[in-house]
Amino acid sequence: MIYDRNQPRVAYFCMEYGLDEDLPIYAGGLGILAGDILKTAYDLRLPFIGVGIRWKEGYTTQLINEQGWPYDQPATYTKDILQDTGIIVHVTIRGDLVPVRVWRVDCFRNAPLYLLDTAVPGSNYDWATRRLYGGSSQDRIAQEIVLGIGGIRALEALGHKVDVYHFNEGHAVLAGIELIRRKKAAGKTFENALDATRRGVVFTTHTPVMAGNEEHEHELLRYMGAYDGLSWEEMRRIGDDPFNMTVAGLRLAHVANGVSKLHGMTARAMWSDKDDRAPIVSITNGVHIATWMHPSIHQAYKANLSLWAPHLQAKRELLEVIAKRTGVYLNSQSLLIGFARRAALYKRPDLIFKRMDIMGPLLESGRVQLVFSGKAHPQDESGKHLVSTIAKTAQDFPQSVVFLENYDMQLGRLLTAGCDVWLNNPQRPLEASGTSGIKAALNGCLNLSVLDGWWLEACQHGINGWQFGGGYEGPNQVKYDLASLYEVLLQEVIPTYYENPTKWRNMMQASANMAYHRFSSQRMLTEYYNIMYQPSRTANLVTEEIELMVGS
Ligand SMILES: *Cc1c(COP(=O)(O)O)cnc(C)c1O
Repeated sequence: MIYDRNQPRVAYFCMEYGLDEDLPIYAGGLGILAGDILKTAYDLRLPFIGVGIRWKEGYTTQLINEQGWPYDQPATYTKDILQDTGIIVHVTIRGDLVPVRVWRVDCFRNAPLYLLDTAVPGSNYDWATRRLYGGSSQDRIAQEIVLGIGGIRALEALGHKVDVYHFNEGHAVLAGIELIRRKKAAGKTFENALDATRRGVVFTTHTPVMAGNEEHEHELLRYMGAYDGLSWEEMRRIGDDPFNMTVAGLRLAHVANGVSKLHGMTARAMWSDKDDRAPIVSITNGVHIATWMHPSIHQAYKANLSLWAPHLQAKRELLEVIAKRTGVYLNSQSLLIGFARRAALYKRPDLIFKRMDIMGPLLESGRVQLVFSGKAHPQDESGKHLVSTIAKTAQDFPQSVVFLENYDMQLGRLLTAGCDVWLNNPQRPLEASGTSGIKAALNGCLNLSVLDGWWLEACQHGINGWQFGGGYEGPNQVKYDLASLYEVLLQEVIPTYYENPTKWRNMMQASANMAYHRFSSQRMLTEYYNIMYQPSRTANLVTEEIELMVGS
């Protein structure tokens, strides 16, 4: 055996995996986290299995038209890292028996990833795994039946023994329904089956944005086949009415976590009125260092050398890509601020442009350069509007503002290694963790961020980056954050960059140190094993004790 047999065997369920830009089965942070966890389990030789979906079209490819409006095209990918296991399992959707093929991504041996696929010749259910997060509620539920119910059946057919089922986000909770159905079929009462299932399930919740916590009408769930043999009373007991996937996750697990200390607190408050739910602890996200640290920066860091020279190299690499893609030649001597993330309202990508009387002169003189990237969800019109606002601002300041189409892992790597500053201004407390800022910090790209998500735990203002807004939440938050952003930008960031290079370089070093030691995926996965995957440690404690133990 190449792996550590004393550790529990974990099956990790997730809708998306960000392993590589050439395997576009991810949309954003959730998938990147799942990909980083899988790679880390492989590095540490842990017995860990990923279960996901082989999306036929992948996630969307984003392009911007001449009017500055974003549009979507299906992504395509090469299949040669997928191996057909030869196994087909069946799930029932709308009363039809649907075949599901099981593929294996074969580069992680002890931590294989199995991808489920309904595009089987002769089946007319190929639509169920066509497009990640695409389609109607019916599509969503069909996808969730494939992942959850199909996933449990696939693991059984593959002969994998599992000690802990980890549901990453509510999308996976139908796996819990299938585990209960099996125990009921073997003679247990519903309550006993639920109890026994819980002992082997853990759950991670990912967003304080209410709309991000998916809900379905019971009628539709039953019609689609998601009840999987359970009754309305039983399903309602697990997920309420309408059926909330996050609440179900919290009731199907014996322990759950938020993805930063602040998010753990937010989630505990958010779900405090839900009876009989798992305690919610905090395990802050981390990133896979070998994936996200620029090789030259990594090398210099390990040799205890200054990060400045490799940073300039990474910056030039980024500027070349920008020039090639947009025709804009940015200046490698000038301050470059990056902002790349999913285009969602709460992330406020247009915040820095709210006062053009302040920003205009900085951009025209070239003292500040900005690079943006980010996709909106294909059905999110407000997100697309944000993208078009930024793309139009780039047209207004062609020498100093650029928008890069189709944010993906490759761009994520280039941007977080090549920018000088990483800007982050979500409406607190809605950013559960954020991981692009960790990637930036790791490469010595200095965070300029509100105190939300991971940054609240990491920030030493003026030492390893900067905060603005002071953690303020409430009315006039935009006004307040905005004033604070300009104050820190004008009085600290810009003067330090141009007038105090020694301090800048020391801050880069402090930033990389902090991220390397405290926000790696190795630290994160170790915490998952120590806290979440060892039921004996938490079995006899009540909710409040567990939340106190690892919450604050
Ligand atoms: C890291 C990463 C994300 C997640 O970053 P956030 O800061 O959480 O928004 C999303 N997309 C890509 C391509 C990434 O590399």
